[in-house]
Amino acid sequence: MSDNPLDRYEPVIGLEVHTHLKTESKLFSPAPVRYGDAPNHDVHPIDLGMPGVLPVLNEKVIGLAIRLGLATHSTVNTRSVFARKNYFYPDLPKGYQISQYEEPVVSDGWIEIEVPVKGSGKKRGAETVTKRIGVTRAHLEEDAGKSIHDVALSASEGTHIDLNRAGVPLLEIVSEPDLRSSVEASAYLRALRSILRYIEVSDADMEKGQFRCDANVSLRLRGSSEFGTRTEIKNLNSFANVEGAIEAEIVRQSEILDDGGEIQQATMGFDVNRQRTRILRLKENADDYRYFDDPDLIPLLIDEELIEVVRADLPELPEQKRERFEQEYGLPGETTAILVTSRRLADFFENCARACNAPKAAANWIARDLRQELNERNLAVDETRLEPDALASLIRLVEEGRLTTKSARELLPELVEAGGDPQAMMEERGLEAVSDTGMIDEWVTTVIGGNAAAVESVRGGDDKPLNFLMGQVMKAAGGKANPGEVRKRLVEMIRGDG
Ligand code: ADP
Ligand code: MG
Repeated sequence: MSDNPLDRYEPVIGLEVHTHLKTESKLFSPAPVRYGDAPNHDVHPIDLGMPGVLPVLNEKVIGLAIRLGLATHSTVNTRSVFARKNYFYPDLPKGYQISQYEEPVVSDGWIEIEVPVKGSGKKRGAETVTKRIGVTRAHLEEDAGKSIHDVALSASEGTHIDLNRAGVPLLEIVSEPDLRSSVEASAYLRALRSILRYIEVSDADMEKGQFRCDANVSLRLRGSSEFGTRTEIKNLNSFANVEGAIEAEIVRQSEILDDGGEIQQATMGFDVNRQRTRILRLKENADDYRYFDDPDLIPLLIDEELIEVVRADLPELPEQKRERFEQEYGLPGETTAILVTSRRLADFFENCARACNAPKAAANWIARDLRQELNERNLAVDETRLEPDALASLIRLVEEGRLTTKSARELLPELVEAGGDPQAMMEERGLEAVSDTGMIDEWVTTVIGGNAAAVESVRGGDDKPLNFLMGQVMKAAGGKANPGEVRKRLVEMIRGDG
């Protein structure tokens, strides 16, 4: 038997995402939604479930739910119902959570993700295809509070409770079991997060706990059409943990199946340090939440008209932007997928492309070099000192052959960190590439003299050794010759028409 379980088994994955809604106040109380406040400062008697209080729906969430529904090609249900999900936990003072159950506000949609073409691997720039992932439903619910077990944080032994989060509005978005690998799962999360941010429904900041995920995983023999028994890994709070947990769970389940065992339906936790999943509770002891419609709340009724008003107000979505970028600028899918990850990056690209009038070059610079600089510093594009106009002038210098790509790349980190004018930087540092044909001809002549075999091949019509010869000339020029000019002179002088 091969060592790789993925040769035998196909993973089947469905995700449940909890995302905090961008509201000033809570779902059913006037308490503010804030991050980083001192514990228990953002609470109202309604969040505490005091006797006699009544929940009042925050109307802001209706528009947000509609936006999500439309952006995920879902049905926005004109009637949905709030139910009580009953369970006991110290961070849930009411003893129940208000959630939607049988009648959610949003159902039956899909979003698109980009997945690497089979065999092209995980590496950056690999070819991708678009895949549609079903969105089963999205329902409104309130978040619970937080238990703090950390001794350092709570300043004394024991568990402390912070109820600032209790009652924060969220949407739980449930996917169909359409995902087939950890890579697809994280692509789905990224696509969903990007949509949520575009439509300003959620900041979806994982570090603030605004975007959390439960992953359902099962395996089936390749070729089989039935699903296996699933487990659910709870509360994954980073992309790395989602991928790590799914991969660990695939290994765990495959070992059981290889031994002839059966998967037990269970709720799992992910141990980050050991990169292993472990069973928290089995399905036989499943939670029975005794759902029933909340008698304090009337059904949520949404007008068709309101849905149309919200539709008219939706911004261009990532997938629409991609299509437009591909058509308008002739860019490949791999590049547009990166450019549209955030609205800010997409805007930066369009401003830069306009300013340098070289959209393809701008796209490549942003999707490759700039993105790397941003990732290394964990910054969004508008958190740097680099302006679209400055990148545009850098690109123009390269396009005009005045700056080599290599020199331009060397200037980029400084532009990101400190800003500046690329042309002035180039001049101050003497980086301008030599375009003087006399000097270029001298270098070219020397290189032609010293590389007879390569020259012979080029003369015979083979273009491949040209790059090598270019490299030699650039070396002779100390890296500072206009590459377009060098190439032109090489060809002319070797093939004898110059
Ligand atoms: P529960 O309340 O038990 O968590 P939900 O309906 O809320 O159930 O969520 C079920 C999740 O599990 C969905 O994301 C769905 O796609 C996924 N799922 C269902 N069956 C399987 C399966 N066999 N393997 C993997 N995921 C599954
Ligand atoms: Mg669940």
